[in-house]
Amino acid sequence: MAIRTIVLREDPSLRNISRPVTNFDARLHTLLDDMRETLIEADGVGLAAPQVGVLRRIAIVFNGVNYLELINPEIIGTEGEQTGAEGCLSVPGICGTVSRPNFVKVRAQDRNGNHFEVGGEGLTARAFCHEIDH
Ligand code: ZN
Repeated sequence: MAIRTIVLREDPSLRNISRPVTNFDARLHTLLDDMRETLIEADGVGLAAPQVGVLRRIAIVFNGVNYLELINPEIIGTEGEQTGAEGCLSVPGICGTVSRPNFVKVRAQDRNGNHFEVGGEGLTARAFCHEIDH
């Protein structure tokens, strides 16, 4: 595993459209392992692949228990609303006030391509929305 460099907001990777993941191979697994290590090192709750310069639809979200690997994620349901401070590892030192759903349900694939659904509330719901926006 290796720590990857988190790109900052000037980087074009953050503006381009990410493509879906189609190969669930060793290269993907290495990327996921690196992203997890990078997120732990940065002490964050979420990291999306474009933030490490990879234009693929991949995000990792720490829900307080597990580091969830979300491949080709989509939001399939939301409930409620929350408004609060939200930051981004690619925009260090800056926090904005953002309204998000309080509960978010996501459908995604795991590192082997199997579909699953996962829900999260509060900070986890916020992280789902933020990382999928990336
Ligand atoms: Zn971000």
